Amino acid sequence: MLKNNNQDIPVFGSLFSDEEVLLSSLRTEPISSNIAYRLLKDQLIDEGNARQNLATFCQTYMEPEASLLMSETMEKNAIDKSEYPQTAEVEKACVAILSDLWQAPDKLHTIGTSTVGSSEACMLAGLAMKFRWRKLAAERGIDVKMCQPNLVISSGYQVCWEKFCVYWDVELREVPMDKTHLNLDTDRVLDYVDENTIGIVGILGITYTGKFDDILKLDSIVSEYNQHNTHQLVIHVDAASGGMFTPFVEPDRLWDFRLENVVSINTSGHKYGLVYPGVGWIIWRDKKYLPEELIFEVSYLGGSMPTMAINFSRSASQIIGQYYNFYRFGFNGYLDIHLRTQEVAKDIASAIEETQLFEMYNTGETIPIVCYALKKDTGIQWTLYDLADRLQMRGWQVPAYPLPKNLDDIVVQRIVCRADLGKNRGIAFINDFKECIEELNQAHILFHDKRNKDTYGFTH
Ligand SMILES: *Cc1c(COP(=O)(O)O)cnc(C)c1O
Repeated sequence: MLKNNNQDIPVFGSLFSDEEVLLSSLRTEPISSNIAYRLLKDQLIDEGNARQNLATFCQTYMEPEASLLMSETMEKNAIDKSEYPQTAEVEKACVAILSDLWQAPDKLHTIGTSTVGSSEACMLAGLAMKFRWRKLAAERGIDVKMCQPNLVISSGYQVCWEKFCVYWDVELREVPMDKTHLNLDTDRVLDYVDENTIGIVGILGITYTGKFDDILKLDSIVSEYNQHNTHQLVIHVDAASGGMFTPFVEPDRLWDFRLENVVSINTSGHKYGLVYPGVGWIIWRDKKYLPEELIFEVSYLGGSMPTMAINFSRSASQIIGQYYNFYRFGFNGYLDIHLRTQEVAKDIASAIEETQLFEMYNTGETIPIVCYALKKDTGIQWTLYDLADRLQMRGWQVPAYPLPKNLDDIVVQRIVCRADLGKNRGIAFINDFKECIEELNQAHILFHDKRNKDTYGFTH
């Protein structure tokens, strides 16, 4: 029976290459590792070329040394601080570096942690705001059991905030975006605030368009509010995409802990932190903004160490990958990589703009995102969904999706430029893009059925 299962059998001559790889119950006997490796790898082959995937913010390239180091450290469990004290120190170093990058006023008082991604980090940020609100509201004599807390954010939020509100029973108050406000409407934000508001979230890099909320303005509005109210508002910045881009490229932009009401910031290490998916970060400017109930102790070198993440066990390799990048690139390394990526985004944006067919929503000026809709009056027969299909034929993955509520009659396309999209690949993309348009202009278009509107649009 097993004679077809030894190392000498060529993979494609083996019995197993004739069978389904994806099983619904375990086979009784093992198969050889070389066959399992080969066939499973082949199974995953047709997911598209990661380097041509312009749909995702998540990293698709790391240096071979980083990959090696990460694969050599996969067995380390990030939560076992006493078994892996050096790994715990590496995580601490990352938190210190981010506190510094985000200009925390007093690094000795900041507290933070790694997470699986921004989603977990946002849960923690939201919980900290909720617990703090509850304590302060009770002190102000409010019967907190009788009222539902709320969170204020623009309707351009990423789905994790909706999850937060559903999971922890918080009312999500959306400040609507509209055609004149493609980010948080700072003139109206206070209309959504009341005594039960746990905080306002500003977004540094709206997932749909890459636009930034005006967090400087928001901060001054909050300062003004706090002067006239006993209820004190705080700001959390969801910097999933901008948090490790802006500090390098636009160090003078005020969005971070230099603003007095910004109490916490999250980012995704796997976006412009340049690590493979699986790492996020959250930092509080001061321990006092992280209620003690959310801090738990794990054993560490005969003593204990505070932890605050929701997840318990996970591999530390992503944290180590993050530190590798910090240690290897330094400030200027990140700056050079990001500037070059931004240049590619700007080149792509100008080529797209030159066709005069598109209304541009982002030309790479905030983060290296190019986002555009078809102009209304071009007389063109095809849609951005057709263009997405055409680009896909050439291997490029560029999604088309509607903007969120109130703007959902606008369908956009978004190109996320990442470090591994070099100038040459950028030029190849531009050429393909132009040819696809040419082909569509000549083509007999099969009209799509009206698509169901997807309220989440595109969430990553
Ligand atoms: C990507 C993103 C998230 C979610 O981040 P993950 O790291 O994928 O969990 C949250 N907020 C914003 C603004 C994002 O762009």
